[in-house]
Amino acid sequence: MLADCRGFVFDLDGCVWQGDALNPGAAETLTALHRAGRGVAFLTNNSRARSQDVRTKLRRLGLEWAEHTLTPLEILGQVIAERFGPSRVLVIGAPELEAVVAAAGHQLVSVADFRKATVVAVGNDFDLSYERLGAAARAAAAGAPLVTPNVDTRLPIENGDFLPGCGAIVAAVSAAAGVAPIVVGKPEPPLFRIALERLGVAAAQAAMVGDSVESDVAGGRRVGMRTVLYAPAGAAPGAADVVVRSFAELARLAGVR
Ligand SMILES: [Mg+2]
Repeated sequence: MLADCRGFVFDLDGCVWQGDALNPGAAETLTALHRAGRGVAFLTNNSRARSQDVRTKLRRLGLEWAEHTLTPLEILGQVIAERFGPSRVLVIGAPELEAVVAAAGHQLVSVADFRKATVVAVGNDFDLSYERLGAAARAAAAGAPLVTPNVDTRLPIENGDFLPGCGAIVAAVSAAAGVAPIVVGKPEPPLFRIALERLGVAAAQAAMVGDSVESDVAGGRRVGMRTVLYAPAGAAPGAADVVVRSFAELARLAGVR
């Protein structure tokens, strides 16, 4: 099932790592895949992470060869360019979101100039105000497509507590404007599709490995990849094409150990 896969795309949180430590056997299996000439890419749905930060962390944790890391933030500007061409973008979100949109060649529109926006990009915005919410909703209602890194409604913090996530703000804009958002992150196709492009591997020859059925398995299936659920505690057969309890098991199935 996995022995002939030419590319492997790995989810990070809960799969490759937990917080600041790699999961058991991850370093050995990932490095063995890389040395065997299989393509290896990593992706996360974190709406504020930049790909270079993810790459730096992987290298610090011992995967010095890690190269292909994708985050919704990194590809958002590319997705806008592919779908709508160079755009005038109203950004409601963190400075990182403004920076990636501008870096992709788009023109930023100020809140006061919201009527000039041809695209609205909404991320988690710690400086959200009624004025900013209103500008985003009115620009979207006037026809500017609403684009977002993800629709996760909560941002988990310590001790099981949370802050409102990107998806909560997108929901407000979407409700007021009466339009549905275009989601760049998992389980929608763009992050998976661009990971396959970076690896130069067709979906049918690649496997998506992750710990979430709703996000990793569903998203991988949608683009035609084989799917592997990483479930140390086990899972029902059929939850994914393959269920593995460990990275050692994955290495055996992939034929690298
Ligand atoms: Mg995960």
